[in-house]
Amino acid sequence: MDRRAFLHSTGGGLAGLFSLQGLSAAIQTQTTPGQRPRLKITDVKTAYTQGIHVRIYTDQGIFGNGEGVDSVSGAAAIIQGFRNFLIGQNPLNIEAIWERIRTSGIFAGGQAGQYVTALGAVEIALWDLAGKAVGLPVYQLMGGKVRDRVRVYCDSGTNTRADPQAKKYISQIVDMGFTATKIDIDDGADPARFDRVNWTANNQEIDNMVDKVRFMRESLPRHIELAVDMHGRYDLGTAKRVAKELEPFRLLWIEEPVPPENVDAMRDVRESTHTPICAGENVFLRHGFRELFEKRAVDIIMPDIQKCGGLLEARKIADMAHTYYIPMAPHAQASPIGTMASCHVMAAIPNALVLEWHWSHPAPRLTRWRQYVKEGEIIEKGHITVPDRPGIGLEMDDAACRKMVRPGTAWFD
Ligand code: MG
Repeated sequence: MDRRAFLHSTGGGLAGLFSLQGLSAAIQTQTTPGQRPRLKITDVKTAYTQGIHVRIYTDQGIFGNGEGVDSVSGAAAIIQGFRNFLIGQNPLNIEAIWERIRTSGIFAGGQAGQYVTALGAVEIALWDLAGKAVGLPVYQLMGGKVRDRVRVYCDSGTNTRADPQAKKYISQIVDMGFTATKIDIDDGADPARFDRVNWTANNQEIDNMVDKVRFMRESLPRHIELAVDMHGRYDLGTAKRVAKELEPFRLLWIEEPVPPENVDAMRDVRESTHTPICAGENVFLRHGFRELFEKRAVDIIMPDIQKCGGLLEARKIADMAHTYYIPMAPHAQASPIGTMASCHVMAAIPNALVLEWHWSHPAPRLTRWRQYVKEGEIIEKGHITVPDRPGIGLEMDDAACRKMVRPGTAWFD
């Protein structure tokens, strides 16, 4: 049965297919696994804006959107290298396609980095495509939802009382209804630094970090939680001192107090403080997260779902975390497509804490957020509601995206 015949068999055509109840009923009563729509992948294309966008096309007119972020500078070439594993395949066999590509990269750096991010961006497009093919939202294919809305925290556009715009950004956070925010406390440009390369913070630098937290804590209503990011820069002694000094502020977490490579050092920080330690935005695949769990190095994990290997991989990492009573608070730097894809995972896992977004951030690449999709703003009162529409459930605004491509590149054409 091809997709057209499948649509016909649902009785309601497109209208029936795009209603969740109608489709579920049709799938349950009118199909067997052998009757699922037989799709073939015909093409895979990429485009760059702030991250990489992937589009996977089929022989029956539908396509899926995916996205990768951060470790993507060479991802377009890597994804074209995946073509042999994609063209002609049934896009509904996501695990098989993913595992073949992953294992084919064992000798090609496929354990982490751009290879994994490229694979994850493809995988997200496959989920969008699969959802559209069977007329179900991705969360339904991830095991169904345990919550309707995903809590989002607002990465703050300010962190210091010296900023004349601070009041504006802080009232945005409050007015938008966010229940949590995050600030950066590392400062490579702090005039108090003795050395441009070494990352041992002196007393003045630590005082400056603590004052940022004090300023934000004094400025925010009590119910808004505060997390801080140290971006994996500092040495172990500094990390322990900062974590200890920040204990009175009852932070939601300290993020990457030391670099991500040495899990024993991360565990040393965690054991030295009762401030919760969060890490994982620079860790890839279940295989990367395993050591963080086994060594009890973190209280919270924060995989970047557009970077760590894809939606199902993020779900599997969350499930591993759940067995250690560890919640997941994903890093997020994606367009609404990637962000909403992450929300389908967050809706489906029990141990979802909060998802990042840089809502009040002044950087132009982040303030263009609403223009990527025809739905516009997707955050409402500090939450994102996962849509019941098929796939990720958002439609990209190609005309708008065409204007946001990286200079010298094209938008899927
Ligand atoms: Mg971070």
